[in-house]
Amino acid sequence: MAIFDETPKPVLLLVLDGIRPDVLRAAIEEGETPNLGALADRGEALWDAVSVFPSITPAATAAIATGEAPAKSGIVGHAWYDERERRVVIYGAMTETVMATGPIKVFHNNVWRMNRDDLHAATLFETLHDRGFDGACVNFPVRRGPHTHPIRMKSVENYRKNGRYLGASVEGPKEYFMGDLFYSRETGFNGRKASGGLRRSAGINDEYAARVGAMLVREKSAPFNLVYFFKGDSIAHHHGLEAQREWLKTADGYVGRIFAAAGGVDRLLEDYAVLALSDHGHAPLLPGRRHVDLRRLLGLKVSSGIKARFGRNDDAVVVPNGRSALIYLRDGIERGPLAEGLVGRRGVDLAAWSEDGWGHALGSGGLLRFRPGAGPADPFGRTWELDGDPRALDLGVADGGVRYGDYPDALERLWGCMHAPRCGDLILSAEPGYTFGEVSGGYHKASDHGSLHAEDSNVFMLAGGFGEGERAPRRITDVAPMLLDHFGAGKTAEPSVL
Ligand SMILES: [Zn+2]
Repeated sequence: MAIFDETPKPVLLLVLDGIRPDVLRAAIEEGETPNLGALADRGEALWDAVSVFPSITPAATAAIATGEAPAKSGIVGHAWYDERERRVVIYGAMTETVMATGPIKVFHNNVWRMNRDDLHAATLFETLHDRGFDGACVNFPVRRGPHTHPIRMKSVENYRKNGRYLGASVEGPKEYFMGDLFYSRETGFNGRKASGGLRRSAGINDEYAARVGAMLVREKSAPFNLVYFFKGDSIAHHHGLEAQREWLKTADGYVGRIFAAAGGVDRLLEDYAVLALSDHGHAPLLPGRRHVDLRRLLGLKVSSGIKARFGRNDDAVVVPNGRSALIYLRDGIERGPLAEGLVGRRGVDLAAWSEDGWGHALGSGGLLRFRPGAGPADPFGRTWELDGDPRALDLGVADGGVRYGDYPDALERLWGCMHAPRCGDLILSAEPGYTFGEVSGGYHKASDHGSLHAEDSNVFMLAGGFGEGERAPRRITDVAPMLLDHFGAGKTAEPSVL
């Protein structure tokens, strides 16, 4: 029977999109979110864990699901320029737009193409399945797995028969639920009677996530469960951080419903290891002149917008991603001088690029070149060869170590982005208060994210019910490795697996 004693505790992973750690922390301290507060009390709470760069949902959710930064996951932002297809690929910018009935092509990109074609790294669902652990996923956008799930929604199925974009099914974990679009079994929560219907975003909403999440823990149906709440991000975009804090009461109620279904938080933490986190933070925007329009700043012939592509005379294709921007350059255009012309302009904080095997970061503090190698160690243990002015990234270098200031985990995050052709030839990060907007030319009004700065890069991490030696991940890229280790399926755990 010993083998059963060795069975790892099931895991419940709760991702709350775009919740700023200080906003949640204040809500917990004031008793506004008792369920998340109880989880924080009973386990480990980190308020300065770190997202990837760009700190934007598709890149960050891919990092959570795979453990890889954008250069290796292949998912670099809301939108990027595909040099091979010579067009911009858009997964959808405003979460709500995609989650709603939005343009079918964006829907196709987000639901089908991103997981099937563009995602280069194995997901937790795939790796755990290979080791004998089934997964369950509710609404999370990165969910590739070994099981085939047909489209359930008639209106989409009808469109599919007449159109050319949508596939008949997607690949996901054993249990996969995404509103009325996909559900691996009947829950009673779909269709007009429940939270479904086209008018309610095809049933894809946080209420639905709470109901299915509660069902999953009540039934103890899967070893690995991933439940995604996305509304808090769009609330912040449209109404700011005060509104996000207010919304957290509702979100906490959803989390509480899942806890109650397990028999309360203490019982839940006996039966499950629970990890709750956000994928990125949020940076409030200035009331006016918050939009930085790169078309005017570059001083080049630029193609931009959803149909951007290199025409015969174009020097650059620009793809804004909120508070970051990916710039693709025609061969022969030098990045250094271009970066120098941009940094310090209103709203442009940093420019980064890769050249001659070095990462380059230009900020108001100067130019820093960096690459992994002999040199000071960062707080996560990687050593770096540095050349130039560390103030470019607000680094403190002393006693053989690197300390981060305004840009958490800056070296690793820039390094984990700039090597992918998809990330462009020059990457920009906006100053707090500003945004480069969306690929469509629009921009959020109250708050946005995507930059290297702590405001949109820091995330919370609450871990409860794990074993003695299991520490809460300090970066979202550490979540998948930590959970694989938990299941005895990780790289470090491999030798001990019999
Ligand atoms: Zn967002």
